[in-house]
Amino acid sequence: MGFRLANIDGRAALVDGLDYYDIESTSGGSMSPDPMAALTAKDRLHELAAGLSAKAPTGSTADVRFGAPVPSPRNCYAIGLNYRSHVEESGMDLPDVPLVFTKFPSCIVGPNDEVELRSESADYEAELVVVIGSSGRDIAADAAWDHILGVTVGQDISDRALQFAAKPPHFDLGKSRDTYGPIGPVVVSPDLLDNQNGLPITCDINGERRQDGNTSDLIFDVAAIVAYLSAITTLAAGDIIFTGTPDGVGATQGKFLGPGDVITTTIEGVGTLVNRCR
Ligand code: ZN
Repeated sequence: MGFRLANIDGRAALVDGLDYYDIESTSGGSMSPDPMAALTAKDRLHELAAGLSAKAPTGSTADVRFGAPVPSPRNCYAIGLNYRSHVEESGMDLPDVPLVFTKFPSCIVGPNDEVELRSESADYEAELVVVIGSSGRDIAADAAWDHILGVTVGQDISDRALQFAAKPPHFDLGKSRDTYGPIGPVVVSPDLLDNQNGLPITCDINGERRQDGNTSDLIFDVAAIVAYLSAITTLAAGDIIFTGTPDGVGATQGKFLGPGDVITTTIEGVGTLVNRCR
């Protein structure tokens, strides 16, 4: 049975509708409350989710604050230029291999946390984020989803001036300022997705639609990314991968983020991030 895994007040929880279930108490103390530990327990999460109807919820999601469902990933990979429409708007060449960079894990924040602007060149990028659930090296593309715990929503906030301050650009720094990696609100197990390779993804700024894409347009799809990365480095449970953004980013329209702007990022069937800039 599928699950929606969250980090509520620093504790791992399963979300079902408007209710949430603390994992430690719902499992009778047999599972750790540590959100990072929960990411390594895929089979237990499926079992626990299957028995939720017989349990009393811990509380209502309306009354609590969600943290990042993966608060401290060991590695946080990201793929640049992975939608044809975004490559074209950026005036770049189509990549022959995935363009991989790192968002430093220290930039990760929760689904409703504020983004602290540090320059006038901050930009938004709505992205599907993959959460690894079982470690592996040399994972074949057709086995990739077996290693994935689930997916969540991410914002790859990017300081364009910083990103392109060096030649060649240093993507890592430009995309890793503190608070520049909101993710959440839940990790959705793949079996709950209608089409794991075709998820509508949007980004609104102050209610104005800026990005409107579909993950079916990924140049390197989720399975290809997992295969590519795992041929180079072992992927471990709790590692996360930002998979790229569709067209409509602010830089190509001269529309950067300013104080008070509200970024709303949605992937249908997965969830919504709402992050205010300050
Ligand atoms: Zn990105």
